[in-house]
Amino acid sequence: MLCLGIEGTAEKLGVGIVSEKGEILANEGKPMPLKEGIHPREAAQHHAQNIKPLIERALAKAGVGMEEVDLIAFSRGPGLGPCLRVIAVAARTLALRYKIPVLGVNHCVAHIEIGRLTTGAEDPLTVYASGGNTQVTAFAAKRYRVFGETLDIALGNCIDQFARELKLGAPGGPIVERLAKGGSYVELPYVVKGMDLSYSGLLTAAIKKAKSASIADVCFSLQETAFAMLVEVAERALAHTEKEEVLIAGGVTVNARLQEMLRSMCAEHGAAFYAPPGEVLGDNGAMIAWLGVLSYSSGVRQRLEETQVIQRWRTDEVEVLWR
Ligand code: AMP
Ligand code: MG
Repeated sequence: MLCLGIEGTAEKLGVGIVSEKGEILANEGKPMPLKEGIHPREAAQHHAQNIKPLIERALAKAGVGMEEVDLIAFSRGPGLGPCLRVIAVAARTLALRYKIPVLGVNHCVAHIEIGRLTTGAEDPLTVYASGGNTQVTAFAAKRYRVFGETLDIALGNCIDQFARELKLGAPGGPIVERLAKGGSYVELPYVVKGMDLSYSGLLTAAIKKAKSASIADVCFSLQETAFAMLVEVAERALAHTEKEEVLIAGGVTVNARLQEMLRSMCAEHGAAFYAPPGEVLGDNGAMIAWLGVLSYSSGVRQRLEETQVIQRWRTDEVEVLWR
């Protein structure tokens, strides 16, 4: 069985083709060039303009024709409404045209599953931090339970908005990482509430701090503070769940300093640390295709009229039938 998966929850459009054995035959991406933040309507237009050539590119890469594809999967949510609707229409159209089933799958669960597939982690605590999501999850009683999450903005969004406000460029993550080198610590608010995180106050404080401290110092301190908060929550979740593996997911976890902090936390707890390859860490089509395979193989079916997008779809609302 071959599944073609379409990702497009935000500014990145992706098409992946994955077999039922988990071979990634293609994983093509087309991010929208960003000058500032993501405008949902413009991102949706980008997806609409690029989806057909990107599907063709993925098929060519995999060396297969559309007739050999057995299943279409798409990111049903969570994400930006206009973007989700474009990829849902593309997925349904392919399903109708080629008379094959279509499944809308959860974007956050897809991040976890592609991480397990590509690293061999079996039952990890997952630290997922991206432009739109920040969550610490672990499998229990048939679901990926959320042990801690942001109460307001995502970690990636915090860094991106900081960079945008100071006109450092977009996306902010890699730029702030570079500028943080050689910086020293200036105080910023550290906000962990119970097991949850809050990044909006830190964002405001960091922007204010940049008026008096050097950019290097503020970038360094923003990273140290924001990452330490996430690692604290991950550490407590690890101790509570007694998982023996930690997996990272999401574009922010590409960050070398964040990885270093998580690695040393894992070492202290005797847990194995798993970092998937860069191509599947951020948003990508292969993760959607793989979750399509897992869902379909465990009996999930959706009629066309049951494939509406779900803008707010929590990770722990998905019943994990394949484990
Ligand atoms: P995703 O939504 O998973 O595609 O990830 C996108 C987010 O990852 C954006 O907020 C980026 O700023 C962030 N990002 C990418 N590279 C880095 C990095 N090296 N350090 C921190 N954040 C990053
Ligand atoms: Mg994501």
